[in-house]
Amino acid sequence: MKIYNTLSKRKEEFIPLEEGKVKMYVCGPTVYNLIHIGNARPMIVFDTVRRYMEHKGYEVNFVSNFTDVDDKIIKKAVEEGVDSSVISERYIEECKKDMEAMNVRPATTHPKATQEIDGMLEMIETLIRKGHAYAAQDGTVYFRTRSFQGYGKLSHKNLDDLQGGNRSLLVTGEDQKEDPLDFVLWKPKKEGEPYWEAPWCDGRPGWHIECSVMSKKYLGDEIDIHAGGEDLVFPHHENEIAQSEAANERPFSRYWMHNAFLNIDNRKMSKSVGNFFTVRDIGKRYDLQVFRFFMLSAHYRSPLNFSAELMEAAANGYDRIVTSVSNLNYLIRNVSGGEDGAEISGREEELLKEAEGFARKFDEAMEDDFNTADAIAAIFELVKFANTNASSASGIGFLKALKDEIVTLSDICGLIVDKKEEILDSEIEALIDERQAARKEKNFKQADEIRNQLLERGIVLEDTREGVKWKRA
Ligand code: AMP
Ligand code: ZN
Repeated sequence: MKIYNTLSKRKEEFIPLEEGKVKMYVCGPTVYNLIHIGNARPMIVFDTVRRYMEHKGYEVNFVSNFTDVDDKIIKKAVEEGVDSSVISERYIEECKKDMEAMNVRPATTHPKATQEIDGMLEMIETLIRKGHAYAAQDGTVYFRTRSFQGYGKLSHKNLDDLQGGNRSLLVTGEDQKEDPLDFVLWKPKKEGEPYWEAPWCDGRPGWHIECSVMSKKYLGDEIDIHAGGEDLVFPHHENEIAQSEAANERPFSRYWMHNAFLNIDNRKMSKSVGNFFTVRDIGKRYDLQVFRFFMLSAHYRSPLNFSAELMEAAANGYDRIVTSVSNLNYLIRNVSGGEDGAEISGREEELLKEAEGFARKFDEAMEDDFNTADAIAAIFELVKFANTNASSASGIGFLKALKDEIVTLSDICGLIVDKKEEILDSEIEALIDERQAARKEKNFKQADEIRNQLLERGIVLEDTREGVKWKRA
């Protein structure tokens, strides 16, 4: 499996720290509003990475935080006249609903920054003790950037260029810093803001220290993959590396993955331009499965443009898979011979071997830095193959094997393609009549098969003195 590593700017073979296990951390959202469709990109992309790794047999420990203390949260709390925890808890719940609606699985652990303050105090103390951080007069603690040898290695920036770009900071009230490159680990409280007691001042943590600490606590000093959107490379991830490696004296993460941005009609999404959509907005206009399909139709490192036309194309693509599975389900229900026809003929055996070729193509695409665009193309080829080769003359075993393959590959992408189909009342009644006829002829096997078939589609039969009654389970 090859992963493009931002650290080396190359695709590298993935070798986990511990065989068969993956420790993965994905920076999560700051919870002051409903998540927007840009935030959904890392969620969907890295959920798919996790699903593929699990499919390959890895045990994935997937950690993704909620940043629940932040200026934007506090601002909103002041506006609404409530405690900032009311805001963060509200939007954590809403975020979880959106994740579920996009079929993004919950992380193994979703730590919250406000629950991890002790770990942050400890890491900041360690950094001060080791000479990598210092407290200024007002109690602000800064990281001493130049004390960390590897600073700039992720963003491939050089310290002197950074120094030039940052000179203005010295004259903007941050003059307590020893060096303009230094960044905040702990800051003093302001009136009306949430704060915690600390040796340097009552206050709250800087954003970067949160992730270093939560990653250490739930995954250990050294992890396999750290991920997020490309805007996080600098300064957030660069600073995380500096903090973690300076404190732990161990390499932090082996692979750094970053998704490119989602734009709207070829422009940056922004509230002021008015082209800003939440996942909730989009869910009212489209099936979020179509949205997920759209997200995965491009490689995660390519910029992706959101537009009505592209969503239309995604809807068509997704429907093609769903329709194929629905047709297979229909054939499975209706082929003659039922379960007796489960034996796969020699010809069907050959066809299934051919079909495995599409699964191999899918894997090859995913092994190449998670090329979901090509992986979906392989699903399409499989769908076309199934549409051509499945018919009412096929055996049920063959049909089920084809369906399973489509469903399994789609499921790795988090796409639900085997939809529970609405069964019409007339269809139910016809099947009940058929079952009654079978019973009259003492063909109890067939009668039971019909009962089970209905049960599989969510219809429960009840034999009463007045006749057969049915209900939707
Ligand atoms: P934030 O709440 O701003 O820290 O963002 C949470 C995650 O969403 C981070 O990984 C960001 O990089 C990512 N993100 C934010 N906006 C976009 C966008 N337009 N396209 C892709 N990813 C984004
Ligand atoms: Zn982070």
